Amino acid sequence: MDYSKIFVNGEWIEAESKEMIEVMDPRTEEIIASVPRSNEADVTKAIDSAKKAFEDWQFTNLKERIQMMENFRGNLEKNIDTMADIISKELGADFEFAKSTHIQAYIDDIDNYIRVVKEYEFEKDYGEFLVRKEPVGVVAAITPWNYPLGQITKKIVPALLAGNTVVLKPSQQTPLVAQHLTKAIEEAGFPKGVFNLVTGVGAEVGNILTSSKDVDMVSFTGSTSGGINVGKDSLEDVKKIALELGGKSASVVLEDADLDIVMDTTLDTVYNNTGQTCSALTRMLIPKTRKEEIEKLVIEKTKEYKFGNSENPDTVIAPLISQKQFDKVKYYVEHGLEEGAKLLLGEVPKKDGQGFYVGPVVFTDVDNDMKIAQEEIFGPVLVLIEYDSIDEAIEIANDVDYGLSGAVFGNGEDARYVANRMKTGMVIINGQTRTHSAPFGGYKHSGIGREGGQFGLEEYLETKTLFI
Ligand code: NAD
Repeated sequence: MDYSKIFVNGEWIEAESKEMIEVMDPRTEEIIASVPRSNEADVTKAIDSAKKAFEDWQFTNLKERIQMMENFRGNLEKNIDTMADIISKELGADFEFAKSTHIQAYIDDIDNYIRVVKEYEFEKDYGEFLVRKEPVGVVAAITPWNYPLGQITKKIVPALLAGNTVVLKPSQQTPLVAQHLTKAIEEAGFPKGVFNLVTGVGAEVGNILTSSKDVDMVSFTGSTSGGINVGKDSLEDVKKIALELGGKSASVVLEDADLDIVMDTTLDTVYNNTGQTCSALTRMLIPKTRKEEIEKLVIEKTKEYKFGNSENPDTVIAPLISQKQFDKVKYYVEHGLEEGAKLLLGEVPKKDGQGFYVGPVVFTDVDNDMKIAQEEIFGPVLVLIEYDSIDEAIEIANDVDYGLSGAVFGNGEDARYVANRMKTGMVIINGQTRTHSAPFGGYKHSGIGREGGQFGLEEYLETKTLFI
């Protein structure tokens, strides 16, 4: 595929900007492609086209929108191998993991959204008045690199089904799969201008989107610092905002927890995708009475997660996305040691040759005030924190700026007692499976709003009351 263009008003066009962004394979550090570094003129064109397209798109029949979405879904499915290959290259992920977790799961999620809109009451009669749910308008979707396809579909699918038009700005680190997704949209029959893609660098493109009077909503997924900037800028113009931000989630192990379930649930979130998952359960809160047993098991189970080059299909812990991410993880591991935490497993990351490889790291004897217990590291790093009583466990779980996810393991009643008191957008109890159609989003610094199912759809709707 030719990655040198942007997609505006239904056409692949040369960007006005002649600058390009290089995309790197984090396994080899080879440059694999370049995409336009869009400038103000490019972004403005995309916004204008989305604004024009909204005039008619908002009034299209829902059935037509669903048909186009089904076409889009089919196109993604047809190209799943090509896209999995691209995600392996731009993110460094294993091909099969890319196919199942990064793509198929999100294709299936399109069905959830279609089911939701089919059942949704866009108009409801309350007797004295009628409430209409209407699309917001032009939605700017700004997305991160860690789930480079899914973070896009979670926004554009409900936004388009609801009748909004979209300008997408994917991460500059993983813009290639976004171009394949755009091709799938182009071939699905959406009218010109309904969906537009501009590639570019964070704040450069982001500021134009957030400051434009013609953008009605900004839906951002990324770091908390980026989200705060985007939120502040968007509110200058009182735009609708949805922010999906960082996390530092706790896995609370109660005295009577089944440790096999604890390990399977917690470690999967910490090591899959090389720890680059916002909802990873990276703080394990353990009862003092079971410390030794848990430490032993964490070491044993961690060794089952293969670390190395993702070209080997057994690999789970592959390279990190970039030098910046490598340096960040290294900084935290060094800092943890300086602060007095003990390494139970792993070492300070060392760069040997090409690629941003960091093996699993587990810290024990961690105090909740330490940086490694408070800040999002975004790598395969787990910290163990001891507690004495259930109430102390709840206090530690909540004593952090974030509130995205959480888990609790143990006897049903105690587990519910803890879950009800955790200040976080979701809690997994005793390893229950999470589904994409459930609401996903955070308390506190983890964001504003929810994605997934009906809750995700409603973010892209305005409420109008009609007195008839
Ligand atoms: P990031 O904030 O650096 O970038 C995210 C996106 O925003 C990119 O497209 C980037 O170019 C753009 N951007 C950055 N600064 C901007 C600004 N000032 N104005 C406008 N746009 C800007 O985040 P990242 O490194 O790409 O992603 C990792 C972060 O995303 C982690 O903190 C992770 O927890 C978070 N995340 C959250 C969720 C969630 O659902 N809560 C999901 C995935 C990732």
